[in-house]
Amino acid sequence: MPELPEVETTKRGIEPYVKDQIIKKILVRNNKLRIPLNKKLIKKIINVDIAEIKRRAKYIIFDFVNGYSVVIHLGMTGNLRVSKKIKYLKHDHIIFNLSSGNILIYNDVRRFGLIQIYKTAESFFLLDNNGPDPFEEEANPDYLFNRIKNSTASIKSILLNHKIISGIGNIYASEILFATNISPTRIGKDVSYDECKKILKESKKILSKAIKAGGTTLNDYFNAESKPGYFKIQLKVYGRDGEKCKSCETKISKITQNNRSTYFCKESQN
Ligand SMILES: [Zn+2]
Repeated sequence: MPELPEVETTKRGIEPYVKDQIIKKILVRNNKLRIPLNKKLIKKIINVDIAEIKRRAKYIIFDFVNGYSVVIHLGMTGNLRVSKKIKYLKHDHIIFNLSSGNILIYNDVRRFGLIQIYKTAESFFLLDNNGPDPFEEEANPDYLFNRIKNSTASIKSILLNHKIISGIGNIYASEILFATNISPTRIGKDVSYDECKKILKESKKILSKAIKAGGTTLNDYFNAESKPGYFKIQLKVYGRDGEKCKSCETKISKITQNNRSTYFCKESQN
């Protein structure tokens, strides 16, 4: 599943080809996405300059100069690629023809992703329920501490709760908790202000590393044959159950929390 670093890398990859462009035409080849594209609004964004491309949590957003936006979520298997020629692959669902002559293609095998057009200034249901991601100013220690100080949910499930903080996926939640020496089973109200500060600091550090690692695959976005590469960052606990902890040599444990695997060191994290 694309996590925040993959989404940020996708955004950076397509940005040079989409910024300052005009969408001349949108072709919907298969609209059976998680939420079908609201085709009635397509005419609002055709032949209108794109002002900015940005990312919020795991959404990529194109803002148009006329006050409309397009939001894209990659779901489980979605990806975007830019191509010079029209040569469709299986699962290419939505095609944007750009004024440069390039085409931007949304491909999604499992179709859990979505593309929606909305009026920028209006409240938009997909984005309203999202808390800030760790890179947003709003995600400061005061915010996080106040949101969790009465919570009896585990800190692991809090990190995955996008209403509180968005963009932290399952792999990174384990890694962040290891880096902060906090046990994933500890409940929100037992996490101190200083630990909230550490969590945010490590979240940014770990996600930035993954974004950087993804930077090397950027050229692939201009190649119709290739797909975004998967991220290889050095994982310290995730997927390492039974192996030695990198700081104390205790064997890494694996538990299940809310149906998701969690990896941690019983000795280093408490
Ligand atoms: Zn350890």
